[in-house]
Amino acid sequence: MENSTLLSLANNYGCPLYVYDAERIIFQYNRLTKAFAGNNPLQINYATKALSNISVLKLLKSLGSNLDCVSIGEVLLGLEAGFEPKRISYTPNGVSMKELEEVQHLGAKITIDNLYTLRLFAEKFPDASVSIRINPQIMAGGNEKISVGHVNSKFGILKQHMEEVHRIVEETGINIIGVHMHTGSDILDVDIFLKGSEVLMGIAKEFENLEFIDFGGGFKVPYKEGDKSTNIELFAEKFKLRFSEFCEEYGRNLIMVFEPGKFLVSECGYFLAKVNTIKPSTNIVFVALDTGFNHLIRPMYYNAYHNITNISKPEGKEKKYNIVGYICETDTFAQEREISEISAGDILCFHNAGAYCFSMASNYNSRYLPAEVLFYKGKDYLIREAETFKDILRNQTKIELPL
Ligand SMILES: *Cc1c(COP(=O)(O)O)cnc(C)c1O
Repeated sequence: MENSTLLSLANNYGCPLYVYDAERIIFQYNRLTKAFAGNNPLQINYATKALSNISVLKLLKSLGSNLDCVSIGEVLLGLEAGFEPKRISYTPNGVSMKELEEVQHLGAKITIDNLYTLRLFAEKFPDASVSIRINPQIMAGGNEKISVGHVNSKFGILKQHMEEVHRIVEETGINIIGVHMHTGSDILDVDIFLKGSEVLMGIAKEFENLEFIDFGGGFKVPYKEGDKSTNIELFAEKFKLRFSEFCEEYGRNLIMVFEPGKFLVSECGYFLAKVNTIKPSTNIVFVALDTGFNHLIRPMYYNAYHNITNISKPEGKEKKYNIVGYICETDTFAQEREISEISAGDILCFHNAGAYCFSMASNYNSRYLPAEVLFYKGKDYLIREAETFKDILRNQTKIELPL
C-alpha cells in the first residue's frame, strides 16, 4: 500500500491502527491455488488463529477457502462468518472432552492428536468420522516455539503408536477419514516439507477409508529485503507429482489439504503507530511509540524481525534507532535499526503485520486493543472499533470485602 494512503488512514482513524490490504490476501490465495491446481482436488483451510477478524474470515470464505480452527471460539467465529460446519476443520491440542463434544455437535470436522482423547472420543461417538494428527518427527520451522513436528513436540501421534490407533478403530468402529500433520511455521526448505509429507503418506497407506490428507501450513513469507520465502511454485510442482503417484498406489483420488495462515495474511498487514518521545541515550537514540508488546508481541516473543518505515518522512536521511514501546518492561521492537530520520509525532509503519499480530494482542497495562481497517480497491472499511475504558471494565465485578 502507498505511504500516502496509510498516512491518511492513520489520520482518519487514529493510531495505533491495524490496516489489511484485501487485495494482497486475494493475490496470495490465488497464487496458492494456482500452484497446486492439478489432478487432485485441493482444499485450503485458512488457519484462523493468524488473523481472526470475522470480516477477514468472510473474505476468505468468498474466495473458496475453508477454515482451520484450534479452539471452539474460532469454530464459533467461523460459523458466525457464515461457513457451513463441514467447511470448518478443528485441529486442537490438549483440549477437554467437553470442548470436543461441543464441536462434534456443531458439526465441524475434528482432528484428534493423542491416543487418550481418541479412545475417549471413539467410545462416545463410535459412528463419528475423524482425522488424526501425526507427529512426523522432523525438525522444521523458524524457531523453537513454532517448530511443532519434532519427536519431543507435544503435537500429534507418533508413528510407533499407530498399532494402538488401529486397535481403537477395531474396538469402537470409529472411522478415520483423514491424516494430518503440521510441522511448524516459517518452513523454508522444500525438501524438509517433502520429507514430512513422505512420513504422512507412509502412515496414510494403513487407513482404508481416507478422504483427504492434510499437510498443514507453515509456508514462509519474506519479512525483510533479501529474505528467502518458501518457493511455493517449485514445491507444488514436486508435490503434485508425488501426491498423484501416492493416490494411484492408494487406489483413490484423495483431497490434498493445506492450512496456511502466515502465507495468506502476513504481507497484507500494516501496523501504524505514532512516535510519542525521542530520547537520546549514550550510544543510541530511543524512539518510544504509542504502542507496545500489548499490540504486537512477535519481536519480543519470537525475536521476529518486522520491517519498520517512517511513513511521515520516508525520504529523510537514515539514522540508527532503538524502537521501543510504552509498556513498563523492556519492549524493544527493533534494535539499532536504520530508519529515515524520526521526529516526535511521525507515524511509523510495521510491515508484515497481518499474521499473529492483532490475534496475539492483549490488554496488558490496561491498554485498549486498537482498531482494524480492511482496505479494498481504494476504499477503507472499519472492521473492528478500537476499545475504550468500558472494555477494560467489562466482566469485572466491583465488590466490597467485609474487612
Ligand atoms: C498455526 C497452524 C497453522 C498455520 O501455520 P502458518 O505458519 O501460519 O502457516 C496450520 N495448521 C495448524 C494445525 C496450526 O496450528
